Amino acid sequence: MLNNIEQISPSMLGAFEKCRLKFVLDSNARRGKGKTYEFNPNSFMGTLIHKVLENYYNETYDLKLFDRKWEASFLELSKKVHIDKKDVDVLEYIKYWVSSYYPKKLNTLKTLNNYALLTNGIVYPEKKVRFKNVYGVVDLYEISDDKIRITDFKTGIIFTVEDGVNVSVKETYIEQLKTYGYIIYNTEKVKAENIELVIKGLGNNEIFSFRCSEEEYITQGLKIDNLIKTTNQIINSESIDNLASPEPNICNFCDHLFKCNSLHQIIKSQPENWDRIVLLKSINVKFNSKDLSINIVVNDRTISIHNIPENDFTEIKKMNELGKEVLLTNLFQVYNSNIKRWSKLTRYREA
Ligand code: SF4
Repeated sequence: MLNNIEQISPSMLGAFEKCRLKFVLDSNARRGKGKTYEFNPNSFMGTLIHKVLENYYNETYDLKLFDRKWEASFLELSKKVHIDKKDVDVLEYIKYWVSSYYPKKLNTLKTLNNYALLTNGIVYPEKKVRFKNVYGVVDLYEISDDKIRITDFKTGIIFTVEDGVNVSVKETYIEQLKTYGYIIYNTEKVKAENIELVIKGLGNNEIFSFRCSEEEYITQGLKIDNLIKTTNQIINSESIDNLASPEPNICNFCDHLFKCNSLHQIIKSQPENWDRIVLLKSINVKFNSKDLSINIVVNDRTISIHNIPENDFTEIKKMNELGKEVLLTNLFQVYNSNIKRWSKLTRYREA
């Protein structure tokens, strides 16, 4: 039986709402494990930048020292990274794999130079905050008289972009900041309108500032309580498939997709909606040994998988002949066609 959810953090709320099953399975997998430092280029850069910002706001050193301070944080963090390769210069390896290492370093310096703090305010970087079942760490917490400002720094783009135009700030970021505001509103007893919530993107000087009303904070609290309560009811009823919300963007990158019944059901009923994932049934599948390709007939259309390495082709064919359902992930959809190509990242397993 899975453990109940007791608390969430504002930064997890978006993921929680997107697919509660993934969130519950991830939380259970994390329990009882210590911190691991498997190298992940995205989280490494995020952690490094937040460390540099934290040090600066703690020490407020002369920014002429920025290079030296950045390098010291980089070295400290690099020591904790585990890379499963021999004869590799770890520092060069990290710089090579993290995307836009030098531009992001420059943007961090620009932010420190340009981001105006509250006049006569007291600054608390990385401040831990908690109320009831929500806890988190605010990147930058400032208090001046009866006003509080909360800033969350984002290393990626803060806007949702459609056809090259910034449409709106990402909903998950708004939810995260609103939840920080909800905690502060309930613990610091300040008026809702005196809490300023700021999302600060490190690239392109992006910034978005907003405030919430008392009613919005009350609604946010009720929403969080209800999400946790209903999720735990479903966990306790042991019908956890009901927590799943399969959707291509999240399922593509989910660690649980091989054993997720809800995902398998929806791929069976709507196979055309999944560009990177395919479920091979024991019927409707033709193996073409000459081209090492697989054709699957779904709803009178044929989906083809090409470029399959010979060993994998043979293995998948064998599984199919034994009547097993095989899930293939991380395929490349060829633009505007029913052809999917095998990629270096493609994996497969019995569903
Ligand atoms: S595979 Fe999709 S639906 Fe299943 S747990 Fe993961 S994200 Fe949720």
